[in-house]
Amino acid sequence: MDCLFCKIIAGEIPSSKVYEDEYVFAFNDIAPQTPVHILVVPKEHICCADAIDADNSVYVAKIFEAVPKIAAAAGLKNGYRVITNCGEDACQSVKHLHFHIMGGRKLPENMG
Ligand code: AMP
Repeated sequence: MDCLFCKIIAGEIPSSKVYEDEYVFAFNDIAPQTPVHILVVPKEHICCADAIDADNSVYVAKIFEAVPKIAAAAGLKNGYRVITNCGEDACQSVKHLHFHIMGGRKLPENMG
């Protein structure tokens, strides 16, 4: 499968890894939009939020168990935002489910 994030997880494409466990891989976004901008991805290929189901939702649970640890390690003491883009209208550019952890400054209230 020609998937950028699968290749990053496999180590075929370099990344700036910040966290890894059996289910989850996290790395710094290559084009950060906030002082801290981390992508958290499942190690299984899931295209997007639309494809989450009872068979793969353990990956989503494990991601959200990892998020507080990743945020704490990144020094996000004052809060942060977790976002996933799904599909065309949300401008999802990489078709492997990922959650953006964004923070390090006050973020705008408006999200859309
Ligand atoms: P989205 O638009 O929600 O699909 O987000 C995809 C994100 O992946 C963007 O924020 C990109 O900057 C980021 N990105 C693309 N290629 C890489 C890469 N090789 N390493 C790290 N982040 C990447």
